[in-house]
Amino acid sequence: MSFDAAALANRVTRPLRAYDPGHDLPALRKRFGPVLAELGSNETVLGPSPQAIAAIESALPEVFRYPDPQGGALKQALAERLGVERAGIALGNGSHELLMLLAQCFADEQSSVVFSQFGFAVFPIATAAAGATAICVKALAPDHPSAPYGHDLDALAAAVRVDTRLVYLANPNNPTGTWFSDAELAAFLGNVPESTLVVVDEAYQEFVDAAGAGGALGLRKHFPNLVVTRTFSKAYALAGLRIGYLLADPSVVAVLERLRESFNVNSLALAAAAAALGDTAHLERVCRWTREERAWLAAELAGRGYRVLPSQTNFLLVDLGEDAAGLQDRLFERGVIVRPMAGYGLAHTLRISLGTRAENERLLAALP
Ligand SMILES: *Cc1c(COP(=O)(O)O)cnc(C)c1O
Repeated sequence: MSFDAAALANRVTRPLRAYDPGHDLPALRKRFGPVLAELGSNETVLGPSPQAIAAIESALPEVFRYPDPQGGALKQALAERLGVERAGIALGNGSHELLMLLAQCFADEQSSVVFSQFGFAVFPIATAAAGATAICVKALAPDHPSAPYGHDLDALAAAVRVDTRLVYLANPNNPTGTWFSDAELAAFLGNVPESTLVVVDEAYQEFVDAAGAGGALGLRKHFPNLVVTRTFSKAYALAGLRIGYLLADPSVVAVLERLRESFNVNSLALAAAAAALGDTAHLERVCRWTREERAWLAAELAGRGYRVLPSQTNFLLVDLGEDAAGLQDRLFERGVIVRPMAGYGLAHTLRISLGTRAENERLLAALP
């Protein structure tokens, strides 16, 4: 028998599978060169604030030192910007790390975690990694008028049990692009006991312009069990640096601090994020462009007969019926990379991130 560590993996890890990146992007970049249109990862193609780039350059000579383990300067900047107390902020190596850490610290084999069908892919993984019982709640119907495939908040609240430590919601959600209002969230929180932490993943919050969907932060005072995660990966266009943050009651942050890696956020990311946060003009430019390009691309696709689902994000989910895999292959052969959704159980859809106008036009030109 040859050695295989798979048999040695612990009970929690044994049934899991590794992250599927969808495509081998380094190989595709070699194959297609500059005509490759990478529309699969919800990045912001306008790029980060020039002030963030300058901050990285200034921080470079000190890269031999460990970063500030508290991220004090960035927390101070976030506290001032968002009107929250510093002790209620945790920083993560991407918000992905914080979503995992929440389950690691608050869920276990004696507890359950609730999330929606078609919710963000990290939620079931975080649940499994903690050995907790996953309660996956059926999504809204495909023909729901405002949120097809979206979170059914009533059903999610009803699914919460006495042993439920966490509920994960994404608003807006990836991959569906759907969202719910602040009033709907307030009603949901009113239906969930304080012994259940409600995590609202707001990775795309900056892009939202729908009425009554200003984000969960305003509800923090009324619901100490509310946890909000955000990221510098999307609207701030710093995905490669890996930095996100979480806003919660200081007692939640204090628990997370027990397991957080001391130097989880690197020094270049800390410097860049603080600078990016200060450049509100750049953020506004990115958000305005995203909303306009989203509306333009959605209209172009709809004009060609595609069913584009409503989105408040920087991507569109397109419902294609039977043809999704064939269309994905066709686009792929033409160097247009979109995200197949079979892994989410949405095999009849494709997720398309906004590219530059030239890339979006290449996408349209590659359609049959
Ligand atoms: C992209 C994304 C994140 C952000 O992940 P990072 O680890 O911060 O890059 C979190 N949640 C959702 C729903 C996302 O789509």
